[in-house]
Amino acid sequence: MSAAKRPLFGRVALIGLGLIGSSLARVMRRERLAEHIAGCVRSKRSQATVRRLGLVDSLHARPAGAARGADLVILCTPLGTYDALAQAIAPSLRPGTIVSDVGSVKQSAIRDIGPYLPDGVHFVPGHPIAGTEHSGPESGFAELFQGRWCILTPPPGTDAAAVERVAELWRRCGSMIEIMDAHHHDRVLGITSHLPHLIAYTIVATAGDVEQSLRAEVAKYSAGGFRYFTRIAASDPIMWRDIFLHNRDAVLEMLQRFSEDLTALQRAIRWGEGETLEAVFRRTRDLRRSVIEAHQAGTFDAREPDQVGLRPPGQEKPSRPAKSPAHGQSAARSHRAPRRRSARQS
Ligand code: NAP
Repeated sequence: MSAAKRPLFGRVALIGLGLIGSSLARVMRRERLAEHIAGCVRSKRSQATVRRLGLVDSLHARPAGAARGADLVILCTPLGTYDALAQAIAPSLRPGTIVSDVGSVKQSAIRDIGPYLPDGVHFVPGHPIAGTEHSGPESGFAELFQGRWCILTPPPGTDAAAVERVAELWRRCGSMIEIMDAHHHDRVLGITSHLPHLIAYTIVATAGDVEQSLRAEVAKYSAGGFRYFTRIAASDPIMWRDIFLHNRDAVLEMLQRFSEDLTALQRAIRWGEGETLEAVFRRTRDLRRSVIEAHQAGTFDAREPDQVGLRPPGQEKPSRPAKSPAHGQSAARSHRAPRRRSARQS
């Protein structure tokens, strides 16, 4: 077997096999990145689904069982579970094991996992900027990370060889790697992902609160921008609750700036300052161009996923899956990918 095709790891434990964990399991299988994939999910329902889909080589109800003897353990669960999971797996970890995660906030991941890891265990936090609004083991697909960034935020002093091994894993999953300071990561994602989700949740909630007579028409005439907000606002409530609670400072800072800018636009509308509005809208159009040039923009498709051959959550994927959209986008589709999947980021 050539070096490039040799499995990178012996045993890999994936704790959590939802959208991200099951996508990792799928691509790791396809690319033969591990000799053995051990998985752990909590509910009986997910366990049955993971078995039916044949996602892992061994399935464990307890995280410590999956982590025992692993060369690499990746936490793929909501951020709020990290503290307890790190405590649970710590006694099973042997020196040299690498622990990583995929969580959307990195300072809290380092705070909640790091202290429990025994000496000699390497910690390389990660965040794939790829995703959809669906969750659970059936929603994953092997192409999710293709052409997308994966940000690694190793704390200072982390073993360089361990960082490189995790980077190589993501490269073989199709991702591009960026190494970043965790604080910086949380501010960047605060504005590119977390604030847009908060705004989407707010707009949809506000629409849901309008008086009964208007509400029916909101759904009926939602083909404009509102539809895209509803897609983002359909994202997993637990995951997003945890993201806002764990990236509180960055989100509040970005929200403050957003509120100020919104107030400025409000004032321009009130006083009929058309040139102010136009100047802002020209600036945002330029920003959109730079997003497109970075190949992270997505293509516009006004049809809903089920109308373009996407399986709704809970159904098996098409036999020739399309490339993923970016986790780094809201309500857009991957610029490079076929027009097949909805996208969002966290
Ligand atoms: P998901 O589809 O909801 O899956 C979560 C998985 O975690 C499920 O398999 C769930 O199992 C399992 N789980 C939850 N609590 C657990 C526990 N205490 N012990 C063991 N397993 C547990 O979530 P996801 O979208 O994959 O997100 C997972 C992580 O990836 C989050 O930290 C998120 O911030 C990050 N992320 C998400 C995206 C995205 O777009 N979705 C993108 C990048 C990063 P059960 O079904 O049995 O509860």
